[in-house]
Amino acid sequence: MWERILQAVFPDACVGCQQLGGFLCDRCMATCPLYEGDVPEMHGVPCVVQFVYTGMIRRAILLLKYAGRRRMADALAAHLPALCGGQRVCYVPIPAAPARVAQRGYDQAVLLANALALRHHGYVSCQLVRVRNTPTQAKLNRQQRHTNVQSAFAWYGPAIRDPIVLVDDVCTTGATLSAAIAVLHELGMRRLMVQVVARGILT
Ligand SMILES: [Zn+2]
Repeated sequence: MWERILQAVFPDACVGCQQLGGFLCDRCMATCPLYEGDVPEMHGVPCVVQFVYTGMIRRAILLLKYAGRRRMADALAAHLPALCGGQRVCYVPIPAAPARVAQRGYDQAVLLANALALRHHGYVSCQLVRVRNTPTQAKLNRQQRHTNVQSAFAWYGPAIRDPIVLVDDVCTTGATLSAAIAVLHELGMRRLMVQVVARGILT
């Protein structure tokens, strides 16, 4: 509801140029660097990363995560490709830590998964859950990140037989995704892909 009030008072404006009419205008989006590097090794699962986590894309993701701009998920999803061409796909968000979801009132990865499923006629499963709160990865190095997320996830309920697309907003070392993939593989779910909005560069 707050977002609707906010929208009435401050209509959607482009994160890049402030032009009214949407969060991500075509002209600005055309200047956003696409991610062209390789992706971290993740148990042989193909990972599609669209953008570099910088500039306007970074601002958009921060607004989605920390400023309650939930509809930013739709705006970002509109710029992500459809995967698994034509097959019915289950989108599985990589859940944020429960403490952070409670604080924000939503999980940005769930919003992204919903937006992608709507666009590409798939469906969403939230059976992948965090079973412990992990400290935020932002201040950790590569090795600490891997240790931090080990056994952070569990899968509840029956395995899914449709192709699965794991969805997350940002991937840096791939440690979180890798931990999630390991859980799905253990349960025999092997038709997996990963879709990430942007790749963060570890500084
Ligand atoms: Zn713009």
